[in-house]
Amino acid sequence: MIQHAWENGYAIGAFSAHNAESIRAILTAAEEERAPIMIQVGQKVINTLGLYQMKDMIDTFMRDITVPVCIHLDHSRQFEQTMEATRAGFQSVMFDGSGFPFEENTKTTRAVADVAHALGIGCEGEIGKIGGTEDDITVDEADAMITTVEEAQEFVEKTGVDYLAISVGTAHGVYKSEPKLAFERIKEIKEQVKKPLVLHGGSGVPDEQVKKAVELGVAKVNVDTELRQAFTLGVQEVFANDPEEFHLAHSLGRGEEVMKQKVKEKIRVFGSNGKA
Ligand code: 13P
Repeated sequence: MIQHAWENGYAIGAFSAHNAESIRAILTAAEEERAPIMIQVGQKVINTLGLYQMKDMIDTFMRDITVPVCIHLDHSRQFEQTMEATRAGFQSVMFDGSGFPFEENTKTTRAVADVAHALGIGCEGEIGKIGGTEDDITVDEADAMITTVEEAQEFVEKTGVDYLAISVGTAHGVYKSEPKLAFERIKEIKEQVKKPLVLHGGSGVPDEQVKKAVELGVAKVNVDTELRQAFTLGVQEVFANDPEEFHLAHSLGRGEEVMKQKVKEKIRVFGSNGKA
């Protein structure tokens, strides 16, 4: 899926799910846009609902979906958890060792990639620190490091990952000021590394910058915060109109609808609409 996107100048949206309604928002948006997508299970929801529970819930809602969907484990920082995800049937896993020294990141990512490839599933690694807060881990924007071409190349050669998350000026969460992506670096890394690149922190990045990054070699864009904001705004709208609306189907249903529209908007920015 990602390889096709990379070779054809568009990106797969990798959208984070947090509950049943957000799973359905992502899946129905993809279905309506005829877009292949990745649905991500991240650390926060694993800690609250559970890894198997999310996988099973996504499978249940996928029964009526006809576009290609890949269930992806986002930002795992434990080898054991990536193995648990492979046992649960995830089709793609990310080991994020960017907080570890280079050698340790490389060694563990290699081990994850070897298992993933033996099982025929995709593997993502990360090199360079991406700023902001992802689940419970915060990287100060000043500490975020732009990935160098050399480290990206060495990392890919040593690990064999299929797609690579790089730090090129985005951050997880809400931006303090408008991000400015390091386009030249994206281009240099793509030319040298020749692997699909992953852009984390896709929320709040101006559409034109995302489109340019996709043109230069980004083939997977992760989005979480903007989707949670959309969902929450939908719920808030219901309570603002009627504080005594106690039917969760109404409030969560409106959250789902607003989030679905946001996912559709992102799919069009990434150019994956109509590619299923
Ligand atoms: P945002 O929450 O900034 O969209 O980042 C999502 C992400 O990169 C998940 O891995």
